[in-house]
Amino acid sequence: MFCGIVAGELPADIVARSPRTLAFRDLDPKAPTHVLVVPTEHVADAAALGPEHAEVLAEMAVTARRVAEADGVADGGYRLVCNVGDDAGNTVAHLHLHVLGGRRLAWPPG
Ligand SMILES: [Zn+2]
Repeated sequence: MFCGIVAGELPADIVARSPRTLAFRDLDPKAPTHVLVVPTEHVADAAALGPEHAEVLAEMAVTARRVAEADGVADGGYRLVCNVGDDAGNTVAHLHLHVLGGRRLAWPPG
């Protein structure tokens, strides 16, 4: 699914991009800012990451910061989350970093 967004075959509200990442708004937002940052190259999930992904992972964090800054939530604070597996609620088998902000976020998450 997210490979389709990366390829431009599926619509998405894209808010940022970099050579190896793409950021678009979650269709079911859980906070005023809820953006997904994905690697353009397919990676199944955070459990599939290895040392070879160091650069793209750093690029995802930089894209997330740019998203937070653009949405005006960088100063107030934001959360970066990767869900792995069913119990964590992951439903899409393409690595995605949730950028959540714009309100006080509960900790630990529910
Ligand atoms: Zn994919």
